[in-house]
Amino acid sequence: MPRALDEALLKELECPVCMEYMVPPIKFCTNGHSICSKCRWGVQCCPTCRARFSEIRNVTLENIVRSQKYPCANRQSGCLELFTIEHIAKHNAACVYGKINCPFTLNTNCTWNGVKNDLIEHLKSEHQANFFESTSSFRSSNFTAKIVNIISFFGELFVQYKRPRDGRLYSAFKLIGTNSEASKYKCEFTLRAANGIEQISKTFLVRGYSEDWETIFNSGKCFCLDEAVVSHFLVQYELNLTVTLYRV
Ligand SMILES: [Zn+2]
Ligand SMILES: [Zn+2]
Ligand SMILES: [Zn+2]
Ligand SMILES: [Zn+2]
Repeated sequence: MPRALDEALLKELECPVCMEYMVPPIKFCTNGHSICSKCRWGVQCCPTCRARFSEIRNVTLENIVRSQKYPCANRQSGCLELFTIEHIAKHNAACVYGKINCPFTLNTNCTWNGVKNDLIEHLKSEHQANFFESTSSFRSSNFTAKIVNIISFFGELFVQYKRPRDGRLYSAFKLIGTNSEASKYKCEFTLRAANGIEQISKTFLVRGYSEDWETIFNSGKCFCLDEAVVSHFLVQYELNLTVTLYRV
């Protein structure tokens, strides 16, 4: 459980000019009002009391800022994650509770952009062939093209990306959610050969939506097989690959 946020303290840590959380170094006016380093250079005098600024840093306040955990800008929409001052801006820019691009931008020219709650309607109308509802398992047979599939299950949306690259076939799942929500799920990839005897089964954790696919594919935390191996598992030119999601 995240500890209760000290709303009064958070309010104090907002810059009076840009209303964002102040990032060190923090300067203050001769009466003690603070301002963020970005806004300091845009004003002649203190916006609160008109006194001039000193060049002294408020080290105590900077230490408080560094030890504080900050809520996501989309907290009202349901994102309950907390971040340090170094990570909050990066998270806000990629947060799945804000506006996101359609996951099918990976292999189509889809330009949809909106909030997660509106995405299902878009998937139903535009990407029906690769959108699986109320099933935690499906068969994924094409192995020559970049494929995106989306599963709606457990009340969540999961994106599978499968992609051949440099003689290997890669695949992984992301939850359209935060890293800690994603770590509650795992995905199992099972390849079966035509002879009905040989099979390969691999299981990985689902990744958070803010991670990028290249990083996931390079990390080894995903399904990855040589195409020579994959070819052995082709059944009439198609893969017999079953992917299944589970709760951890
Ligand atoms: Zn500011
Ligand atoms: Zn002042
Ligand atoms: Zn967030
Ligand atoms: Zn789309």
